Amino acid sequence: MTVMMRSKPTPSADPQPLLLDTLFRPMGADGVYARTQLYEDVVERLTLMITRERDARAEVFRFPPVMSRRDLEKGGYLKSFPNLLACACALHGSEADIRAAANRATTGGDWTSALEATDLVLSPAACYPVYPIAAARGIVPRDGYLFDVACDCFRREPSRDLDRLQSFRMREYVRIGTPAQITEFREAWLTRAQDLAAQLALPCRVEQASDPFFGRTGQMMAIAQLQQSLKFELLVPLHSESRPTACMSFNYHRDHFGETWELADAEGAVSHTGCVAFGMDRLAIALFWTHGLDPKSWPASARQALGF
Ligand code: ATP
Ligand code: ZN
Ligand code: MG
Repeated sequence: MTVMMRSKPTPSADPQPLLLDTLFRPMGADGVYARTQLYEDVVERLTLMITRERDARAEVFRFPPVMSRRDLEKGGYLKSFPNLLACACALHGSEADIRAAANRATTGGDWTSALEATDLVLSPAACYPVYPIAAARGIVPRDGYLFDVACDCFRREPSRDLDRLQSFRMREYVRIGTPAQITEFREAWLTRAQDLAAQLALPCRVEQASDPFFGRTGQMMAIAQLQQSLKFELLVPLHSESRPTACMSFNYHRDHFGETWELADAEGAVSHTGCVAFGMDRLAIALFWTHGLDPKSWPASARQALGF
């Protein structure tokens, strides 16, 4: 007897395998992918869309994917997220030392045991290098500073989920100034960001959030961050309503970077800082996940905003 097997339809099938196949090529590690033209075109159009929102006063910096280890240590990253940080390492020593270590790779040995840390880390966020640049100028002007920064970021959080990469692009607008200037900047962006998401026809909500600070002391830091409403996120439901994805974040650092880098105005008042961060890869993934693989068939407002 022949039994006909009919495959059951799966109503909420995970779209990620199809997205992965169409938009990326594997590079041998979870969360590190080659990007296809289809995908990259959308990232470029999103970049232009965000640039259109740039304040005329903003100064632009594009940072390399690495930064000074000392500057990041000074910024306090090791206290908060030591588990996510990757440091650039290299072989040091005489020609013979380096040759011997490298040769171990071909003889089945472990060449990496000879690695030593360099003075560079892989940047975990786009705004860290801008504070020492501002500080080097001396007194913070009355109007404060506004920066447009971006870089390829790295965080050691390997995952099969396409919305959690190890290597991803971050764009940020950063404000340095008085507490009132930072508050005004962040309030304005909380509204503008939702408007951008609406143009992209991405369902979203804005919620208060805390950073995933490391360890038990980290839990205390997260509670303090929530109590002081220092972080908000623009969340887009991709996996599910109950497990939404943060595509942008709105951060108020209070005087943390001001104290660290001795940023102060003419009266000696320590500067406050804040930033709005756009996860460029998360936004692109959110568009394909929500609207499908063909940008020409996306909702009209999204096509218009992106120039399709
Ligand atoms: P999450 O809670 O999802 O880990 P986060 O709080 O670590 O996010 P931020 O540190 O605020 O994120 O980073 C700014 C933005 O960078 C995020 O809103 C997100 O869009 C993007 N981002 C952060 N981590 C990743 C990642 N692993 N892969 C892709 N994009 C990321
Ligand atoms: Zn930032
Ligand atoms: Mg995170």
